[in-house]
Amino acid sequence: MRLVLLGPPGAGKGTQAQRLVERFGAAHISTGDMLRQAIEKGTPTGNEAKQYLDSGQLVPGQVMVDLVRQRLDEADCAAGFLLDGFPRTVMQAEALDAYLACRKSPLDVVLQLQVDEEELIRRLIARARGDDRPDVIRQRMVAYREQTMPVSDYYRQHGRLHSIDAFGTPDEVFSRLLAAIEQAKGRGK
Ligand code: AMP
Repeated sequence: MRLVLLGPPGAGKGTQAQRLVERFGAAHISTGDMLRQAIEKGTPTGNEAKQYLDSGQLVPGQVMVDLVRQRLDEADCAAGFLLDGFPRTVMQAEALDAYLACRKSPLDVVLQLQVDEEELIRRLIARARGDDRPDVIRQRMVAYREQTMPVSDYYRQHGRLHSIDAFGTPDEVFSRLLAAIEQAKGRGK
């Protein structure tokens, strides 16, 4: 199963991603986690990315596309993968489609978690991570609205987007995700 999980910061993507990869035996590719590890190790990519993570902006350019392509070539992705935090721009979505098309292994499903903005801010304030300061949260929401919402439109226009109400318990949301996956498989998308 080849999945993309979209959703704003605080929508519960990480929790649901974990459950989905366990269910489908897919590799979990979280670009945020990859970047945090790179920063911790002090790699060139990490050093370049740090300022963007610290300020809540997207890492620009080709860096993320190259990182994800390399990751997709690793052996554990052959049985399937779930992308969490990528694509975050239309350029990334197009690059992903082009890469998967040339491997003849297109995405099976694009899932989007939907939550209203007030609930999101409440959730983000309730959890504590270095880049969860109010000013950084605000910047991440701006990046989401301006750069990542068009990614949903991109998949919607191609008839591939499945939107899921992310309000509810993790179990409820997970059931909705599974139902959407079943529906997508039924339609051959
Ligand atoms: P996340 O853990 O997915 O919320 O990502 C944390 C931060 O990593 C983001 O605020 C961005 O600075 C950076 N990041 C993660 N994924 C991407 C991506 N696909 N494109 C650009 N920047 C990203």
